Amino acid sequence: MTIAAPRRKTTRRHTTRHLHPANRRRHDNRTVGERIADRVTAIFGSWSFIVAQSVVVTCWIALNAAGFLWHWDPYPFILLNLLFSTQAAYAAPLILLSQNRQADTDRIKAEHDYRVNMLALEYLVALHRSSHGPDCRCVPDGLRNAEGLLRDIAAELPER
Ligand SMILES: [Zn+2]
Repeated sequence: MTIAAPRRKTTRRHTTRHLHPANRRRHDNRTVGERIADRVTAIFGSWSFIVAQSVVVTCWIALNAAGFLWHWDPYPFILLNLLFSTQAAYAAPLILLSQNRQADTDRIKAEHDYRVNMLALEYLVALHRSSHGPDCRCVPDGLRNAEGLLRDIAAELPER
């Protein structure tokens, strides 16, 4: 098994290839659409965006209410409302897309962790049997203990 991943520049933010398959799927093997959705969602979810938007809205309303220049969108600022509706109409599906991708990543991570755990368990059982012999009681006893632990962990999980 090789531990070191090949290093390759992929994106500006992630300069090395990821080790975990879920992160590889999420960051290294993105489609163009996913890249755009990630970028846009990152912009929407930033303080810079909130501040910039607040500045633009304040200026828009101030200019149209005070009227030093010309009134391109007088009170009650219908054009501004239209722009906000359009923005919201695109923001919602983009955020959903991003959430779906996060859910996919979590699912792949959980699946991968489960497989690695099962592999480690099989390896341990095989290793143990090769040294203690196939009739040793350690494995069945150990499995009973493991089942008890699993029950304890399951009892600690939050109610759904
Ligand atoms: Zn044993």
